[in-house]
Amino acid sequence: MQGLMMDYPLTLDRIVEHAGRLFPRNRIRSKLPDGGMHEYTYADLLCRSRRLAAALVGLGVEPGDRVGTFAWNHYQHLEMYFGIPGAGAVCHTLNIRLFPNQLAYIVNHAEDRVVFIDGSVLPLYEKVAGEVDCVEHYVLVNAARDIETRLPNVLHYEDLIDGVDDDFDWRSTDEQMAMGLCYTSGTTGDPKGALYSHRSMFLHTLGENQGTALGLTEADVVLAVVPQFHAMSWGLPFACTLAGAELIMPGPHLQPAPLAELIESYRVTVAAGVPSIWNGLYHELKTTPRDISCVRELVVGGSAMPRSLIEGYERDLGVNVLHAWGMTELSPLGTLSKLRREHQDLPAAEQWDVKARQGYPLGGVELRIVGEDGTVLPWDGETMGELQARGPWVIRSYFKRDPTPEHFTADGWFRTGDVATISPDGYMTITDRTKDLVKSGGEWISTVALESALMAHEQVLEAAVIAVPDEKWTERPLAVVVRTPEGDVSAEDLRTCLAVSFAKFEIPDQFVFVDELPKTSVGKFDKKVLRSCHAEGAL
Ligand code: ADP
Repeated sequence: MQGLMMDYPLTLDRIVEHAGRLFPRNRIRSKLPDGGMHEYTYADLLCRSRRLAAALVGLGVEPGDRVGTFAWNHYQHLEMYFGIPGAGAVCHTLNIRLFPNQLAYIVNHAEDRVVFIDGSVLPLYEKVAGEVDCVEHYVLVNAARDIETRLPNVLHYEDLIDGVDDDFDWRSTDEQMAMGLCYTSGTTGDPKGALYSHRSMFLHTLGENQGTALGLTEADVVLAVVPQFHAMSWGLPFACTLAGAELIMPGPHLQPAPLAELIESYRVTVAAGVPSIWNGLYHELKTTPRDISCVRELVVGGSAMPRSLIEGYERDLGVNVLHAWGMTELSPLGTLSKLRREHQDLPAAEQWDVKARQGYPLGGVELRIVGEDGTVLPWDGETMGELQARGPWVIRSYFKRDPTPEHFTADGWFRTGDVATISPDGYMTITDRTKDLVKSGGEWISTVALESALMAHEQVLEAAVIAVPDEKWTERPLAVVVRTPEGDVSAEDLRTCLAVSFAKFEIPDQFVFVDELPKTSVGKFDKKVLRSCHAEGAL
C-alpha cells in the first residue's frame, strides 16, 4: 500500500521563496573587493534571483544547460545559486585557483553555455578562453564599465538583470532535475563532476540544519569562508536561506586579519572553513587579540583539524570547534563531531579528543568500513578499512561517466577513497586517503595522525607526511615541516615528541624543514607535489 501524502517537489526555488516571504528583512552582507560592505535582504535576494532566472531564459538558456560561475563569495554569486537552477539550468561552480589546463578541461567537459566572471579574476579566466569552445555568453560581475577584455559576447551582470520583471515562474518543476555541478580537484586523473539534483540539495539542506548538525536559526550570523567554488560552500548558502540566518560573504578577503574583523564586528555565531584558514586566524589572534567568543560553532573540514588547534581555540579563545568530514561527492556533508550526552561531563581534554575525530553521520547518511577483500568491518574504533557511504545526497555516478567498481560497489555504496575507523558509538576517524597511507613492512601508518601530533608542537606551524619508497620496508614516512617564525625545533626534538604516542616503526626516518607547504586549489596540503619534489630530489 502506498502512502497518501502529497508529492511535493523538493526544489530550491521553495527555499528562496520561503526566505523572501518569512524573513524579508534579514540581512545578507558581502565584503566587496574595495573593502566596502554591501548589504541587502532576503526579499532582495528573492527578487533579484527571479530576475536573473528570467534573464537567463531570455539569453536562450534551456533546461539542463550548464551555466558556469567563476567568482568569490558575494550576493550576486548567491543569486546565481538560486537563479541558475530556477531557470532550469545547472549552476556549475568553477574553482578560480585551478591550473589553466584543468579549468579549460572542466568548462569544455561541462559544455558551459554561459559563464559569469568576477571582474577581479577576469585575467585568470582569459588565460584559458582561447581553449574553450562551448561558451556563447560571458557575464562580468562587479567589473568596471570600461574594463578591457578579449572575451567575446560580454555582458555586465547588472545590465543583464536590469529592468527584467521579477514575476518569473520558476522552471525548476521536477525535483530530480540537476541543479548544480562541481568537479573534484582531480588529484588522480582528470577531474570528475558531481551533479546534484534539486532533491539531493534540498535534503542536504534539511540535513545540515538538523539540531545535531548546524541547526541554524534566524538568530545566527554565519560567515561562509569556504568558497562558493568549493563543494557549494558546504551548502551554507541554502541552509542559511532556509533558516533566514544572517549571511556574511567575505568576497576575496580571506586573510586572517579581515576575517577576524568580520567575526568580531558582526558577532558571527557560525563560521566555516578549512584548517589552514583557522590555523592562520589562530596565529593572527595571538599577535592581534580580538574577541571572537561570539562564535558558537567554528566549523572545520576538508582536511583533518589538528587536535592541538581545537584545544587552542577552545582553551584560549572560548570558541567551540565543530569538526566535519565531507566530500564533493556527498554534497558535501557526511559527518560532524558533536559531543553527545555521555561526553558532556568529561574533562575538557577528553572532549577535545572526541572533537578531533571526524564524527558521526548526519541523519540521512549511512557509513560503513570495508576490508580489502570486501568484508564489512566492525565498529570497534581500531579496525581500519575503506570508508563507504550511501544516502539521498551521495553520488551514484559521475557526470558523463559510467559508474565503475573503482568508485561504486555492486550493492549500492559509494567508495570514498578514505581509510577510517569507526568507534562502537559511531564516531568515525579518518586515518588517511587510500593514496596517502604509508605501507611500511606490511603495516599501515596514518599520516593524518602523525601530522596532527607534529602540529601540536608549539614551534611547528604546519606539517605534512608523505610515503617515500624504501627498499627494505616498501615505504617509509617522511615529514615535511614548517617551523613557526621564531621556532628552531630540530628533527631529534620532533622524534622525541612523537615517541610518546607512536610506535617506533611509525616515526618518520626523515624530517625536512621548509618555509612553506604547497597547497591544493582548496587549501589542502598538496602531497602530490611533495611526492614529486621528493622523487626529483628537491626535498
Ligand atoms: P578534493 O578531492 O578536491 O580534495 P573534496 O573537498 O571533496 O575534494 O575532498 C574530500 C576529501 O577531503 C575526503 O575524501 C577526505 O579525504 C578529505 N577530508 C574532508 N574532510 C576531512 C576531515 N575533517 N578530516 C580529514 N580529511 C577530510
